[in-house]
Amino acid sequence: MISNVKKNKINLFELKSKKDLKNVENIFDKFLKKNIFKKKYFSKARKCACGSKKYINNFKIGLFKYVKCKCNTYFVDPMPNDNFLKIIYSEKGPYSIYRKKFLENKNKKKIRIGKINKRKAAQISTILKDKKKYILDFGCGDGSFLKTCKKNGFKNLFGVDTKYSKPYKKNGVFFSNSLKNLKVTKKFDCIVLWGVLEHLNDPINFSKNIFKYLKKGGYIFIEVPSADSLLMTVLSLFKIRVDRFIEPGRHLYFFSKQFFYIFSKRLKLNIIDLETNGLDLQTLIGPTNDKLTKRLLMIQNTIDKINFSDHYRAVFQKK
Ligand SMILES: [Zn+2]
Repeated sequence: MISNVKKNKINLFELKSKKDLKNVENIFDKFLKKNIFKKKYFSKARKCACGSKKYINNFKIGLFKYVKCKCNTYFVDPMPNDNFLKIIYSEKGPYSIYRKKFLENKNKKKIRIGKINKRKAAQISTILKDKKKYILDFGCGDGSFLKTCKKNGFKNLFGVDTKYSKPYKKNGVFFSNSLKNLKVTKKFDCIVLWGVLEHLNDPINFSKNIFKYLKKGGYIFIEVPSADSLLMTVLSLFKIRVDRFIEPGRHLYFFSKQFFYIFSKRLKLNIIDLETNGLDLQTLIGPTNDKLTKRLLMIQNTIDKINFSDHYRAVFQKK
């Protein structure tokens, strides 16, 4: 069970300043406001990743509508198309600026990511016993997760991210901007998609293409924002813009547990394990004193236990 690996206690506001978050959101807001009505960047159809066009309700936060499908997944309307995503995630696009300003250059943030990676690698170790197994981190960013896997003894590590203009090898880990350019002749034993699927406009077809590179019996680890979470439920009722979770224009999907059943059926997978992680209460309440923070973390623990925290982490196995 991946949930048996002990969780970290994280105080959001020690590590993430509200000012930073605001600065970064301003970059995106400017970009979105300039482009939101341009037809060439958005698809006309309103359709969930599960394929259904039927939806139960919707609400508006900022520039986007958030539509709840009958599978309980939320998705943005209008849905950005490939042209839009290409610009957002290009080397000089707004996401790159976001990453440089916010994700990569902050020491405290690095400490937090370090803690999270350590737990993720420990979770992978509970399932992949053989350290020679081939692991692919798709959307690997600066490769910090793979570096942690290396420290944990894993030997065959590969990362793909659009940020790499050409294939290269660092500390025994192979990086490239595409699977094709990685030139791996063997299929992978494990593919991880940490915070990837919610950024895509067609997560099922994307996964179908990636999982071709996974062995039969191989494992998939994903992490995505949860539509079933306490945080999403509060946001849908009170329409509060919480950038940390909503990431307007970047998070296109908030997935439900029900979606995972559809996902696993379509892609011929078994769901092996599932847990939630999150900072629902800290996100909603904001900075608090030590005593209250302690209490909030305690309640957050309970929210985790009943799988209502803001992110799902799930493990699948290819049939
Ligand atoms: Zn759906």
